[in-house]
Amino acid sequence: MTPMEPSKDVLKKKLTPEQYRVMFERGTEPPGTGAYLHTKTPGTYRCAACGFELFSSQAKFDSGSGWPSFDRPLADGAVATAPDTSGGMRRTEAVCPRCGAHLGHVFDDGPTETGKRYCINSLALKLDAPPADGHD
Ligand code: FE
Repeated sequence: MTPMEPSKDVLKKKLTPEQYRVMFERGTEPPGTGAYLHTKTPGTYRCAACGFELFSSQAKFDSGSGWPSFDRPLADGAVATAPDTSGGMRRTEAVCPRCGAHLGHVFDDGPTETGKRYCINSLALKLDAPPADGHD
């Protein structure tokens, strides 16, 4: 995987203003509003900006936080992390390893054996679901 730096113009054409704000200005969608909050459709969640595969639907769980939550990335290195001290809080930011987009945050209070809770903005994701009658 080669990191890329998409241009602002390209991103602004591809993303809605709200998506751009969340993913490239480190915004947060209002809790309880995200398109994927209650989604249980099987598939792979990709980065909304560059299409990189981030999470499997199998790792998704209902955290009650108001944001889609996952207990692990799709694979080792599928989601990058960085320290985030904004807002007077010490948090770990979840980042797309390919395009650098802000995805959400990672917390150490996950309910499964991984102990992790990836709290992710729906706006940063695009679910790639196989067709219901596909042969995949
Ligand atoms: Fe990306």
